[in-house]
Amino acid sequence: MDTTRIDTAVIGAGVVGLATARAIARGGRSVCVLERDSRPGRGTSTRNSQVIHAGLYYPANSVKAKDCVDGARMLYEFCSTHGVPYARCGKLVIAADVTEIPALEALQSRGRDNGVEGLEIVDRGFIRAREPHVSAAAALYSPHTGIVDAERLIAALYRECSEMGVIVLLGTPLVGMTEVTDGLELATSSERIHVRSVVNAAGLYADEVSALLGGDEVTIYPCRGEYAELVPTKRSLINGLVYPLPDRSGHSLGVHATRTIHGNVTFGPTVRFQTGKDDYESDRLPLKYFLEHARPLLPELTLDDLRLGASGIRPKLHPPGSSFADFRIERDGRCARLVQAVGIESPGLTACLAIGARVAKLVEGVPSD
Ligand SMILES: Cc1cc2nc3c(=O)[nH]c(=O)nc-3n(C[C@H](O)[C@H](O)[C@H](O)COP(=O)(O)OP(=O)(O)OC[C@H]3O[C@@H](n4cnc5c(N)ncnc54)[C@H](O)[C@@H]3O)c2cc1C
Repeated sequence: MDTTRIDTAVIGAGVVGLATARAIARGGRSVCVLERDSRPGRGTSTRNSQVIHAGLYYPANSVKAKDCVDGARMLYEFCSTHGVPYARCGKLVIAADVTEIPALEALQSRGRDNGVEGLEIVDRGFIRAREPHVSAAAALYSPHTGIVDAERLIAALYRECSEMGVIVLLGTPLVGMTEVTDGLELATSSERIHVRSVVNAAGLYADEVSALLGGDEVTIYPCRGEYAELVPTKRSLINGLVYPLPDRSGHSLGVHATRTIHGNVTFGPTVRFQTGKDDYESDRLPLKYFLEHARPLLPELTLDDLRLGASGIRPKLHPPGSSFADFRIERDGRCARLVQAVGIESPGLTACLAIGARVAKLVEGVPSD
């Protein structure tokens, strides 16, 4: 078996892996991406709400807050120059009654601290003009929240990587690693690749990949998010993005309504920790669950208006009992040539380009021999 020499290998061709490969290649280094699936982006990257978040929710100074705000700006720019369908449609976070208005104000203030621009508290008249079917006492309006076509984003990142000479090896899982004097030798099912540095962007499987690379222990807590959607004849009930106040457990932004770039309207995602990493369908929540959670926003909704939609799995870094873990993007403590980009749950789609730039800087710091 021949050994190929390359500067950096990225494990995983989701949005994070591809955006990272792009950022490293722009710095002039040779890069390859190993992806075990036969196509890029079929993990969490295409199983999500496809919302470009503005950065309202995350604690000040967290990596999530910074990379969401920077990443949203970078993503809008990337989409407009690379022909990726997107819309800066704005979003409403709803106060069901006046007692929830202080919570909206707290969210506004957190968003401002994070550098989110244009946030304002709006009244019923504003809400009615945008969303005539939604029930609300007031709302926080975020004009820079948007939607994107995740599949087309993956395709554009993949195309750009290929044009820059990044070698993307599809159907090629990382299966092992040996340390050699001047780098690491990565083993796939068909070849050996000698690298100076390696990036773990393996999403739900980042724990296994870290172990294969001799890195720090990573524990992933898979957490399923399920969706229901409006039947086509009822899609006019929602025009844009309508969210309740975030779930008090801190696990999710609450079951919200999203009009996607394709015009369908989803409700979700729900929050349920599970053990399996590829079980998207067993024991699905019934439509009644979505009806209960969506009705406070949309009182005229009936069970007949809903059908089950897709689901995705978050690679959380914390168990059900706790509520927040930041993205873990750092040089590994055990393996000096490894950079971890793990625990990339929401807003990872929004933040992917900022994460890529952050990882590329860390890769620069990996010793050359
Ligand atoms: C329900 C849900 C809703 C969400 N909504 C939003 C949203 O609206 N906005 C937002 O910004 N973010 C959202 N997110 C988060 C966003 O989807 C993720 O942060 C992002 O997709 C993570 O991308 P990734 O590249 O890290 O992971 P993935 O897309 O999972 O990519 C990891 C890749 O690694 C590959 N891999 C694994 N093991 C190996 C191996 N041994 N060798 C080679 N390859 C391997 C996998 O096949 C996979 O392709 C949501 C997530 C969920 C689950």
